[in-house]
Amino acid sequence: MKAVVFEEHGGIDVLQYKDISEPTAGPNDVVIKVRAAACNYNDIWARRGMPGMRVIMPHISGSDVAGEVTEVGSEVVNVQVGDEVIVHPSISCRTCEACARGEDMFCRQFRIYGFQTGPLDGGHAEYAMVPAFNVVPKPKNLTFEEAASLPLVLLTAWRMLVTRARIRAGDFVLIWGASGGLGTLAIQICRLHHAHPIAVAKSDEKLAKAKDLGAEYLINRTTQNVFEEVRNITGRAGVDVVFEHVGEATWETSVQALKWGGTVVICGATSGFDGKTDFRFLWNKQLNFRGSHMGNKAELLEALRFVESGDIKPVVSEVMSLQEVGKAQTRMEQGESIGKIVLVP
Ligand code: NDP
Repeated sequence: MKAVVFEEHGGIDVLQYKDISEPTAGPNDVVIKVRAAACNYNDIWARRGMPGMRVIMPHISGSDVAGEVTEVGSEVVNVQVGDEVIVHPSISCRTCEACARGEDMFCRQFRIYGFQTGPLDGGHAEYAMVPAFNVVPKPKNLTFEEAASLPLVLLTAWRMLVTRARIRAGDFVLIWGASGGLGTLAIQICRLHHAHPIAVAKSDEKLAKAKDLGAEYLINRTTQNVFEEVRNITGRAGVDVVFEHVGEATWETSVQALKWGGTVVICGATSGFDGKTDFRFLWNKQLNFRGSHMGNKAELLEALRFVESGDIKPVVSEVMSLQEVGKAQTRMEQGESIGKIVLVP
């Protein structure tokens, strides 16, 4: 089968589109014919190399897969050949105490599929193999491309806002990168909970997309001062929640923009890992800093109910062929993409 493989870290020139053997299912696994697979910023971290994380080589990226099951292992009971499925990208042992509590992310064997798994174990290929536990039915109202755009960012944004930040009706939520993969879903999750999404993006074109998705307030970070705009929008009070994934470049503003007792929830640091915090604000304003990472299968299934009802919509900006993965990653690195780029083998 064709797959996009890399054997060393580097630029997009390390990505090789080549023939490798098709995977076969172990007793508890399934093989999926990949009809579409999304790009994530994680693919770029894996290709470049990320401090503190070992990428297993040779590596195939791709955490988001939608396709048809072509083979099931001898012990598999929850899925059949021919089923249309998407992949739940959190891989864990499913037997330890953390997994039993639904805290899969604390499992010693926790891995993000197509990012920390391997060798040769991701969705940027014609076929993908995953544990049967990790497939869920494809929402019937979506195309394969739309379905592939969702799992990782939907799961992450849902856990950040619903489980970790516990957003409530009436909350003001500042959303960085509001037209990006996570941001487009964060806006919709806020609306679903009757919270007020405040979208931040670098251009009016990107903000127009955020508005279409339900953002109530728009801040152009290139031409406006984000902190001042937040003060104007919230009557000087600050926001209840900041949706953070940019890191170094935005952290100080995020903390400054919080109201007393407010919460920053963070899952990533696209711009860098070092944030500066003035501790006086932390204790005086009694702020909450909450980390969040991926999510469990129950959270994904819960979020998908709102996809099936049409309350959460996928945002696919571009569909490219699998061979064009380098072009897709360059667009993401340059901050040009809106929503998700999806690859079709
Ligand atoms: P996208 O590339 O789709 O979006 C990133 C957004 O970040 C862009 O829209 C851009 O918005 C914004 N951004 C980039 N640089 C800056 C900056 N200097 N200042 C302000 N905004 C900036 O990525 P994703 O949404 O898919 O992922 C975002 C991050 O979250 C990545 O680092 C990713 O690895 C991480 N992540 C972590 C997960 C986890 O479970 N821990 C899961 C999913 C993602 P703008 O228009 O303003 O430029």
